[in-house]
Amino acid sequence: MGTLVEEIIEWGGGVFGEEHMETLLSCVQCGKCTGGCPSGRNTALRTRKLMRMAQEDMREEIFNAPELWFCSTCYTCYERCPKGVKVTDIIRTIRNIAAKEGHMLKAHKMIGVYVAKTGHAVPIGPDQMKLREAVGLESQPPTSQKYKEQVEQVQEIFKTTGYDVLMGLDWDTMALKEEEGEKKK
Ligand code: SF4
Ligand code: SF4
Repeated sequence: MGTLVEEIIEWGGGVFGEEHMETLLSCVQCGKCTGGCPSGRNTALRTRKLMRMAQEDMREEIFNAPELWFCSTCYTCYERCPKGVKVTDIIRTIRNIAAKEGHMLKAHKMIGVYVAKTGHAVPIGPDQMKLREAVGLESQPPTSQKYKEQVEQVQEIFKTTGYDVLMGLDWDTMALKEEEGEKKK
């Protein structure tokens, strides 16, 4: 395994092109990204710091930093950076590498459970179904949640890509294995 920078360039390069990812090397730590980051105003996210950690090959620290996941991908930093660093795409790439190695916030895994169950990150619940019926609509719109065969196709994607294993999904209970472990304690 090479350095984190090399991995970011290789992994992200497949999507965005290597030149795009190599802009990480141009970061001069001016902090303009951090100054304009809307998420950073309310969270521990410091965009400049993430760029530095990536440059310094602090892979475990960055993968385990909750703020890695606080970026809302608004692209403000991307547009403001005076050195043309493709900040948002670099953060997205670091997240992908982190997730590939099993680092994910539990909240994100829970969203994965919803997707596995319904095909939706935000499925329709019983209250919404009642509301729909009250105004003369079918309880569910014609999306994957309504059609079993479409949910099965989504589940097939989970299995084919290994995402189910990565997030620790128990297919029998349709819950996270870590949640089941917590309940047994
Ligand atoms: S604005 Fe650009 S150069 Fe300045 S710290 Fe952020 S990424 Fe680095
Ligand atoms: S893309 Fe992410 S890091 Fe950049 S300004 Fe927006 S929230 Fe902050």
